[in-house]
Formats: sequence, C-alpha cells, structure tokens
Amino acid sequence: LQQKLIESEKLSAIGKLGAGLAHEIRNPLTSIIGLTHLMKENNHKKEYLDIIIAELERMENLVNQFVSYGKPSSIERVHCNLNDLIADTVELMNSNASLHNVDIYIEPTNINAKIYIDESKIKQILINFIKNAFEAMPKGGDVCIQLESDYKKEEVHISIKDEGLGMTKEQVNNLGTPFFTTKENGLGMGLPICFDIIQAHEGKINFHSEKGKGTEVHIILPLN
Ligand code: ADP
Ligand code: MG
Repeated sequence: LQQKLIESEKLSAIGKLGAGLAHEIRNPLTSIIGLTHLMKENNHKKEYLDIIIAELERMENLVNQFVSYGKPSSIERVHCNLNDLIADTVELMNSNASLHNVDIYIEPTNINAKIYIDESKIKQILINFIKNAFEAMPKGGDVCIQLESDYKKEEVHISIKDEGLGMTKEQVNNLGTPFFTTKENGLGMGLPICFDIIQAHEGKINFHSEKGKGTEVHIILPLN
C-alpha cells in the first residue's frame, strides 16, 4: 500500500503549470488555424465550424479549470452531516451511473459524521472521484463508498472503490500533476483541483491501485 501525501510544491509550480497550459492549448489552436484557412478557401465547408466550436470550447474549459486551480482555494466552512452529503451526491450521480452500467453502493455505517467543511467543494470532489471511477469501468461495474471514522485521531475516512482499469505505480505517482490524463478527451485537471480542495481542508489523500483490478481512493478529513 502506497501512501501519497499532497506536496505543496506541486501546487506552487506556476511555471510548470503555464508550460502545461501552453502545451494543451497549442493543439486546438493549430487545428483552428488550419480549419479557418480551409474555410477561407472553401466557403461551403460548414462542418469545419462544428470542429472549430468544439475546439474553442475545449480551450475555454481548460482556461476556466486552470484559473480556478491557480486561485488559493477559499473555502467557506459550514457544519454539515457527511453521511447526508454522500447520500445526496450518490443520488445526484445515479442517473449517470445507469448510463455507464455502474451501480453505486454506500456501505452501511453506524457513524454519524458531523463535520465542518465547505459543503459544495467536498461535493465537487466526491463527484470527481465517482466520475473517474465510472470512466475507469468502460464495461460497467460497482462503485463502493465507505465512510469510517477514527475518533482518536479526530478524522473521518471516505473511501471510493472501483473495479476498473486500475493504474501502474508510475501512473499513481503522476496523480495530481496538472494535465496528467490517460483519457482521449480528458483534461487532467480533476485531481489537481481535488488535491487543492483537500489540502485547503487540511486533509490527506492516498490511492491504492492495481492494474487490471481497480482503484481505491482514500480521503482523510479532520473532524473539526
Ligand atoms: P481526467 O479524468 O480528465 O483524465 P483527472 O485529474 O480526473 O483527469 O484524472 C487523471 C488521470 O488519473 C486519469 O486520466 C486516469 O489515468 C487516472 N485516474 C484517476 N482516477 C482513476 C481511477 N479511479 N481508476 C483508474 N485511473 C484513474
Ligand atoms: Mg477526471
């Protein structure tokens, strides 16, 4: 089991980020320039416009994600019940789950986690992890969510387990690096934003993953 702590250096490597963003934007930009030249020569090629719009939207998406990542996460904590938050999030994801042939289970628990967190940001990260779990199971499968607590350490532990593609050690080491993605249409900004939010809550995250078997994301949040 490999534990991975959030490295704050990763979050402050603005120069690397800028280079990554430039790299990501270059491809859609090149294709837009090429397509607009082609359109100039041939007025009837309206279908190029669809590609141009899609590429522009991808760029807009990238820039938006980048901007929200760069900002130090300002979190607004409220007292909330983590059990309810997880249940709400799963309900929200359920229609999407059936589309992916996925069933989401919440392990029964007798803990009742009252916690002081930014509710919408924690919901956002749960959605991100669940989405990644779906995307790791192209043929469908189960996602299992478990809430546990360590009262001695005053922590709650949330784990999100899938039976998907899994990752190599090298892939696991790359998690949280902006723009790291293995997906054709991935942005690779989901986890960096999650890491950022977890860090702002003074939490921790680690991954247990085995290629071909699945992945378990383990999130630790302090209780107060
Ligand atoms: P994206 O989903 O856009 O690729 P993320 O930052 O959410 O970006 O994830 C980065 C990469 O981490 C993914 O492309 C994938 O390779 C890997 N990954 C994340 N979650 C999982 C998972 N549950 N199972 C397998 N691989 C995962
Ligand atoms: Mg993702």
